[in-house]
Amino acid sequence: MSHPTDGSCIFCKIVAGQFPCFKLFEDETTIAFMDINPVNPGHALAVAKGHWPTVDVIPTDVLGDVARTAQRVAKAALAALEPTGVNLLQSNGPGAGQSVPHLHVHILPRYPDDKVRL
Ligand code: 5GP
Ligand code: ZN
Repeated sequence: MSHPTDGSCIFCKIVAGQFPCFKLFEDETTIAFMDINPVNPGHALAVAKGHWPTVDVIPTDVLGDVARTAQRVAKAALAALEPTGVNLLQSNGPGAGQSVPHLHVHILPRYPDDKVRL
C-alpha cells in the first residue's frame, strides 16, 4: 500500500529498509522496532509506515493501527521482561519534546527505582 514518505526522515528510511533497525513487528501500515537510545531495557517504538508528523494530521484509522501495534509490543514486553509497569508515550511538536517528526508511540517498560521522570 502506498503512503506518504519524506526522503530526509530517518523513520521513513527505516520503513524503506534503507537504514537498519532491530525490528519487532511489522504489518501493512505499521512497524515496531527497538529505540536506538533506550531509556530503559525494552524501550521500543511503534511507528506508522507513512510519514505523518503528528497526531493532528495522521489519518484516524492509521492512528488506530499504531495503537494496536503499541499494545502488541507492550503485551510482549510485559510477558518477556516482567517490568513493574509500562508507559505508552507519544509526543507532538518540539515544544512537547518530539525529536523525530514522524508519528510514533514509545513503549517504555518501567522497573523499580529506574531513573525515568515523566
Ligand atoms: P521523540 O523524542 O521524537 O518522541 O522520540 C524519538 C525517539 O527515536 C528517541 O527515543 C530516539 O532515541 C529514537 N531514534 C532516533 N533515531 C533513531 C534511529 O535511527 N533508530 C532508532 N531505532 N531509534 C531512533
Ligand atoms: Zn518519515
